Parts: sequence; structure tokens; C-alpha cells
Amino acid sequence: MLFENQRAFAQSLDQQDPLHAFRHEFLFPQQNGIPFIYLCGNSLGLQPKTARSYVDQQLNNWENMAVEGWFEGDTPWMYYHKELKRLMGTIVGASAAEVCPMNTLTVNLHLLMVSFYRPTAGRFKIIMEAGAFPSDQYAIESQVRFHGYDPKDAIIEVAPRAGENTLSTADILAAIADNGEQIALVLFGGINYFTGQWFDMPAITQAGHAAGAVVGFDLAHAAGNVPVKLHDWDIDFACWCSYKYQNAGPGGISGIFVHEKHFSDTSLHRFAGWWGYNEQQRFKMEKGFIPEAGADGWQVSCTQVIPMALYHASLKIFEKAGFIEPLRKKSEQLTAYLCYIIGEVNKQLGFEQYKIITPATAEDRGAQVSIVAKHNAKEIFNALMAHHVLGDWREPNVIRLSPVPLYNSFEDVFLAGERLMTISKTIITHRN
Ligand SMILES: *Cc1c(COP(=O)(O)O)cnc(C)c1O
Repeated sequence: MLFENQRAFAQSLDQQDPLHAFRHEFLFPQQNGIPFIYLCGNSLGLQPKTARSYVDQQLNNWENMAVEGWFEGDTPWMYYHKELKRLMGTIVGASAAEVCPMNTLTVNLHLLMVSFYRPTAGRFKIIMEAGAFPSDQYAIESQVRFHGYDPKDAIIEVAPRAGENTLSTADILAAIADNGEQIALVLFGGINYFTGQWFDMPAITQAGHAAGAVVGFDLAHAAGNVPVKLHDWDIDFACWCSYKYQNAGPGGISGIFVHEKHFSDTSLHRFAGWWGYNEQQRFKMEKGFIPEAGADGWQVSCTQVIPMALYHASLKIFEKAGFIEPLRKKSEQLTAYLCYIIGEVNKQLGFEQYKIITPATAEDRGAQVSIVAKHNAKEIFNALMAHHVLGDWREPNVIRLSPVPLYNSFEDVFLAGERLMTISKTIITHRN
């Protein structure tokens, strides 16, 4: 599509957008009555207007039924997670049995590594992306130490080539093949939080399996953002948070995926708890752990009803929007429009003040565009905030902007660009 740097053009794209009305289902932050142009859904998704009523419903159930709420009422808490499983599964390309809402993300990464990182003397290494989200780095390092290995020996990080910002798929696949027999686990982000690069998940999975390794993904920045097919791609396990692109609120409940081919593997270690116990017999309170079938068998503690209610509210909006495919169609255009607008800002400034480090091709990225601001980066970011454009800041000079198809418009993108232009002209007085 040929884009134009005109407000009327952006508005005309909004008029043709079948998802445009969904922005009215969300609450935008404001300052002095002026709403922000919110481009930070990669960090914390907006609150659905329905969220409060979903929470109220559970507070009412608690008020009226107290302990009986576990088995009585419109959403008996014992089974409430089953409501969410079908919806979550659809978002990540999995069956309801393969997913479960529980805990928070890094906790789940640890629990899944207990089952799926099983090093042996000859095969103990983990391959991951360099520059992974710090929590993942810490989790992986501590797991490696827990098994008695030195992270220096056991972790192989694939890094971008000199002068590049993103990883070459060929380099990832080569690193897997080169270390083949020593790799126990391939563990990547679906989308890198810093660059916004969407990795070639099917290719990485195939290469990992060809090397005889287990393959898992952290989908924090991918779930609800890009179409993934965890089951069909034969991924062994995955986990994600629900508070980024899935709008389930700060500290929102995490989701896990375990491929059904692992359901009957009784040799997998688990850190067990009563909520993962066979559901029919859980309250017999007997000795000897018998896991519930499917992903539910990885639960540890009793289910978190209020965080689930928040996730539920958002998942119902995804369902109403037709899940990921329609969103992705819009998202590709919206992200491309943002990249075009950044290019227009550079053109008007007469030099490349803003360098996009996110891949230029749609199949290698989601909604997020990471931009290196060459001059006065922090001042410009702060000025954007002051002009009601809310993105996020990464040291030393990266601004991440994420137009989210559920609630951002083409006009949002245009206006963000217009303000960036004005701010840049005012702030950048000299350059090298
Ligand atoms: C956001 C994010 C996290 C956050 O983990 P929590 O346990 O939810 O605090 C972890 N990993 C990645 C890759 C992330 O993007």
C-alpha cells in the first residue's frame, strides 16, 4: 500500500478498518483530561472497560457464597480456568488441553524447565538469544547452576553479527547444528523485547529437534500479537504473560503450553502441588501425586480467580474480534504505517535521526517498532510524554512504540509522528 503523511489519509484508513470500534472497549490513560496516544501495549496493555465487571462478578460470588463459590454459582472457581483454556488455546494455536492459566511468567519458565531441561553429562547445554529479557537470563542461569553446571559452559548465546541489531536465522540454525549433540534445550523468545524481532519459530523448532533437543519459547511479546501455531509447529513447551498484548492487567496471570505428545510421559519431573493433582480425586487428599491430564497437571497452587477474571474479560474481546487473524491483518498495516511515518520524519529533518532497528519485513516483526534516537534521545522521549504520546524507553537511546491493532488507530500513528516531528525540530539544535 502507498501511504501518505496526512491526517485525512490516516482517518480514511480508520474508516475502512473493521476493527476500528474496538478501541472504544478500552480505557486510555489521561492527564488533565487529555488522553494519551498510547503506544506502549508491548509493556502493559490497556484496561478493557469490562474488566471491572468481571472482577465484580467474582467479588459478588465471594461475598454471597464464600467457600461455596468453589463449587457453586455461575463460574464455580474449581473449574473457572476451563473457561479460559479454549480462548487462550485459540490465541496461541493450541488445544484447550495443552494450555493452562497459572502463576506468573518467570515462575512458569522455572516450572517448565524443571520438566524440560534435563541435562546429562554429554548433553547439558542451552541455546538462547543474546540479549534476552533479563528475567529469562536469570532464570536460565539459575537453572543451569541448580543442575551443577557453570553458565559459561552450559549457555550458548546467539548474537547479531557485527554492526547488526537482529539475529540471522541462518546463524541461529547453524549454532544449533554446530553444537547438536551437546544441546539439551533450545529456549528462545518468540519476539525479542528490545528489537521486536520475531524469530522463525518453526525453523528453530525443526533444527532443535533435528539436533535431539527439546524446544521451548517465551511468548511474552508474541502471544496476542502475532499468529503462532504452537501445536502444529511441534513446539514442546511455551509460556507467556497476559498483561502485555493480552490486556489482563499488571501482574496478570501467565499461561503455559505443553504439547500433547508429552502428556503421557511419566518420566518428566515436576514440582508438584495439590492443584496439579487429578481433578476428580484432588479432595480425597491422598498420598502419592497423580497429575491431572494435560497442561493442568503442571498447576501447583490453587487457582487465582481474580487475575483469571481479568484475563477472561480481555480474552472475550479477542474472541469478539475474531482472534488473531483479523488483528494481524490490521497490525501489519499499522506497523508498516508507523515505519513509513518515522521515515517521513527523517526526511523532513533532512537526516536519519531515527534508525529503526526492528526488522523491515512483516514476517519478522509484530506490532513493536524499536527506534534508536541518534541525538537528544532522552529529551525527545520526555517531550513525547509531555505531548501525550506514551511509548517506552530503553537505555541507552531506544524508544519502543507499539501500535496495537485492538485499540490503536492509523490516526494515532499519524499524530504521534506529527508530534515527534515538531519536538525533534525544537530539541535538536545541532548535530554531528
Ligand atoms: C515481560 C517479560 C517477562 C516478565 O516476566 P514476569 O515474570 O511476568 O515479571 C519475562 N520474560 C520476557 C521475555 C518478557 O518480555
